[in-house]
Parts: sequence; C-alpha cells; structure tokens
Amino acid sequence: MPAKTIIIWYRNDLRLHDHEPLYQACQEKAHIIPIYCFDSRQFVTTSFGFPKTGKYRAQFLLESVQNLRQSLQNVGSNLIVRQGLPEVEISNLAKQLKVDAVYYHQEVTAEELAVEKSLKQTLSNIGIKIKEFWGSTLYLPEDLPFEITHIPELFTNFRKQVEKKSSIEEPLPTPTKLPSLPKIKLGNIPTSAELNLETSIYDSRAVLKFKGGETPAIARLNHYFWEANCLKDYKETRNGMLGADYSSKFSPWLALGCISPRYIYDKVQQYETKVIKNNSTYWLIFELIWRDFFRFICAKHGNKIFYLSGLQGIDIPWKEDWQRFKLWQEGNTGYPLVDANMRELLLTGFMSNRGRQNVASFLTKNLGINWQMGAEWFESLLIDYDVCSNWGNWNYTAGVGNDARGFRYFNILKQSQNYDPRGDYVRHWLPELANIPGKKIHEPEKLTQEEQKRYGVRLGVDYPRPVVDFFKSVKNNENIYNRSLQ
Ligand SMILES: Cc1cc2nc3c(=O)[nH]c(=O)nc-3n(C[C@H](O)[C@H](O)[C@H](O)COP(=O)(O)OP(=O)(O)OC[C@H]3O[C@@H](n4cnc5c(N)ncnc54)[C@H](O)[C@@H]3O)c2cc1C
Repeated sequence: MPAKTIIIWYRNDLRLHDHEPLYQACQEKAHIIPIYCFDSRQFVTTSFGFPKTGKYRAQFLLESVQNLRQSLQNVGSNLIVRQGLPEVEISNLAKQLKVDAVYYHQEVTAEELAVEKSLKQTLSNIGIKIKEFWGSTLYLPEDLPFEITHIPELFTNFRKQVEKKSSIEEPLPTPTKLPSLPKIKLGNIPTSAELNLETSIYDSRAVLKFKGGETPAIARLNHYFWEANCLKDYKETRNGMLGADYSSKFSPWLALGCISPRYIYDKVQQYETKVIKNNSTYWLIFELIWRDFFRFICAKHGNKIFYLSGLQGIDIPWKEDWQRFKLWQEGNTGYPLVDANMRELLLTGFMSNRGRQNVASFLTKNLGINWQMGAEWFESLLIDYDVCSNWGNWNYTAGVGNDARGFRYFNILKQSQNYDPRGDYVRHWLPELANIPGKKIHEPEKLTQEEQKRYGVRLGVDYPRPVVDFFKSVKNNENIYNRSLQ
C-alpha cells in the first residue's frame, strides 16, 4: 500500500517532543506535511477594544513558530506557514496535495472549536479524514476517574481524586528524522508589522528575556532544574515577584505548547531521583494540576467561563468605569503594589501569580469593575495567555467561578508587607517612589509634607493618591455581591 500523506496542523502545540499527532503519523510511516496558520481573527481587537494578541504575545508566538520551523528543518522536514483562516488554508492545502488525513490537537473553547468544526465540515465534503488528539494536560481525559461532564467543581476534589486514581503517561519520543516536503510554497513567517502590531521593546527590568520556542523552553527547564537547582526551593520562593528564578516561568511555553506538561513531569521525577524529592518538587506538579483543572472545567462548561455571571451564574451589577479602569491598566491607582504589577504587565507582558491575584482582586473587589475587562486586558498583554487558565482564574478571583468561599478579597497593604517587605519590588517598577525607604513605600499617602520633600515625591503630582478608600470600597462591593446572591 502506498504511504499515506498526513497534514499535521500545528496550533498551541509548537513542539516536536511528546506530540501525538506527529508521533502517530511517524508510526504510520506517512508523508508528513506540517503547517501553521496565523489566524487573522486572533489579530483583531477584543470587544472592549484591546488588541486581541498584543505585541508581547505576538512576538513570542513569532519566535515559537520560527523555532518550530528550524527544529523541523533539523530533522529533514519543514513548516508550511500561511496567514488567514486555518479552515480555508488547510483545506486548500489538503486538496492541493491530495492528502489522506489531517491530524491535530483538539482544543476546548469556543473560538478554537469553531475553527475545528468548520474544518471538519469542509474536509468531510471532500472525503479527507480527520484525527483529533488530546495533548495539552498532564492527565488524559480517558485516564480521569470521572467523565468530563462530571469533573468536580472544586479544585481540591478534582486533585485528590486524580492523584489517587489516575496516572500520568510518559511523554512520547521526539522524532529524529522526518520525510522531506514535496515541492510547495513554504510561506514566510510574518513580521509584527505585517500583523499590524508595534514591535515589542525589551525592558531590562523584566524578570526574564523570554524567547519563544521549544529550544528555549527546554533550556529554561534545564536552567531552573539542573543549572541553577531552583526546584528544590520552589514552594518557598514561588510567591515572589522579583527576579528570574522565584518560580519556573514555564507558563509562556506551556501556553503555546512549546513544552508539554508530561515532559516537565518526567523531568521532575528525574530530579526527585537524582537530587531531592520534597514538598517543592511536589508543588510544581500541584500547580500543573491547577492548569489541568481549568482546561477540564472549560471542556465541561463550554462558554459559561466567558459569561459575565461566570460558572456560577451570579448576576452582579459590575461597573464599566473606564476612567478608573484606565488608572488600573496604567498603574496609577495610588496603591503601589497594584501599580507596580500593572506597570510590569504593561511594559513586559508578564506578571507573577501573586501579582495577578492582587490586581484582579483590586479591580473586582475594590473598584467593582467588570472582570471581563480585566480578563481581556490580560488576554491582550500576557505572553503566557492561555484561554482556560486566564478566564478560569478571573472567574475565580471575581467570585463567580469555582470558589466555594463567596466574597473574598486581598488586603493589598498586608500582601505588600508579606510579599514585598522591604519594598524592593515596588521600587523596581515605580521610579517616582524609589527614594522612599523600607516599607513606607507601600503607603505613600501617609507621608508628611516634609517627608514628601525629603523623598522627592509630591503626592497627587508625581504619584496619585489612592483612587478609593480600601475598606469602604471592599464593604460596598461585598454588599453588592451579597445582594446579587439573594
Ligand atoms: C487573574 C489571573 C489570570 C491568570 N492568567 C493566566 C494565563 O493566562 N495563563 C497562565 O498560564 N496562567 C495564568 N494564571 C496563573 C498563574 O498566575 C501563572 O500560570 C503563573 O504566574 C505563571 O508563572 P510560572 O510559570 O512561573 O508559574 P509556576 O509557579 O512556576 O507554576 C508552574 C506552572 O503551573 C501552572 N500554574 C500555576 N498556577 C496556576 C494557576 N493559578 N492556574 C493555572 N495554572 C497555574 C502554570 O502552567 C505554571 O507555568 C493566572 C492567574 C490569575 C490570578
């Protein structure tokens, strides 16, 4: 029988290792045609008017696709690149090359599913087969102790059951040789200008000079696990905000699938054998289970994750106060911890988990602003934007998601004192406050006239006074929340 020709449609799985569609096609000794299509719908503006894929994320994506092309070339193949609508471009290619099948990793959320549906329709009309694979989580759906429709709503219940009853499969091997491509137009990887985006400029204060692609992803893991030996302390350092190594920083590569979670799991096990097995090595896996959880919750609930009333269906009268939202976006709320984090995001496309929790809490529990505006702003800017993790975490923080504890807020001042005790993080991002010594930096509104002079900061001029009274605003929003529950 002549060898089959199979298209591998690359999406958020930009790697060669642990890639089931590619692995299966290799097993079948097929002619393999890898393609990536820049989906024009991902480069429009969001409903609140932000660039859907902002400049940092776009840059990371361009680098990741470039790296994938290089890796495929290294094993004798190449990457076909197109721009437009994947369902159109892939079916055109399928017709042109008379392929037998298209293999790809399935997704779980609306926009991605719509593309899959449309592609399936076109291909079935011309008799080309489709094979979908699941490949973005630690646990496979078939290995879970429950059906997707019965995924527990609370993370702890989910985690305890999977840890007890499921196992994680080994990562699939990386192909070392692939067949060459037939003669065909390869297509250029667009520049950011061609995608109508500004060029992203590296800010030297960034935690890391993130570079997209499977090669940098594996290099980052090697650094974090083996060279700098940070994994053994992860649980103690992971709530940090300053520097490259307080947490793994795997998220941007995970989001585009440059690294697979099972690959990370496998390396954690090696580390546990060779270096140490402790709470920290466990905790990295614990966090990856959070990631799994949000993906399965999205698969279970479909579009609910995007609704204003969230997974729980709570109708809260959120405000769309653009004036205050702008203060939050640009880091001008008068709450230094919030402002420092928001400026880090604006200038680099990254923010720590601790920061994200605080700024999201402030937007929803102090300003009472529509959480979807915050989620879209994150979607635009975060280089690690992941539909399920972003919208799932926003649901959670806004109090409309999988959180059994109702109205909860972060006490920004307490958080500042606990996680930035000397004010170094705030000083790093807010130069106008840099001369204020120690933890005084967290409450600039308390400085006397004389202190303001001494530290060279004029409140209300160089740095804003707090946009709201902290406890009054929390109380107001708590009342609104509780009324909505009734
Ligand atoms: C409002 C809000 C929005 C968020 N949006 C995103 C997003 O778009 N993409 C994203 O990957 N993460 C998101 N997170 C989760 C988390 O903040 C980041 O995954 C983490 O900060 C990335 O840094 P790291 O890789 O160094 O994490 P580490 O602490 O090293 O954790 C290792 C990995 O575990 C996973 N993980 C850790 N915490 C979470 C979590 N709470 N939810 C889901 N997965 C987690 C990530 O894949 C991460 O890379 C969001 C959190 C909040 C509160």
